[in-house]
Amino acid sequence: MMLIPCMACESRFRPDEYFRACHDYNRGRDMVAWTCPRCGNQDELRVLPGELGFGYPRRGRFDVSDRVRVPGLQRRRQDLRLDISLDEKVWRVPTGRRGLVGAR
Ligand SMILES: [Zn+2]
Repeated sequence: MMLIPCMACESRFRPDEYFRACHDYNRGRDMVAWTCPRCGNQDELRVLPGELGFGYPRRGRFDVSDRVRVPGLQRRRQDLRLDISLDEKVWRVPTGRRGLVGAR
């Protein structure tokens, strides 16, 4: 069973619990916000094929500094959301207000 950690409290989550906590896709920076269901810490990450990239927003970009492998993870960018899929499940992360601004 693949478990994905919170970088702040080190709780580990099953993919369904983890990806349901993603929100506010920022298309311009290609990142999603994530709020930990346990400790409430908010993180930002990029969903990539086969891995999650953690890092920092900087000057309108998002620089990945740490990666967590999630075998089979896929992503598809839509106009107003990011679709994340793994093991035939799909999680839809709507574009947040800031994400809309960043996409222009
Ligand atoms: Zn946490």
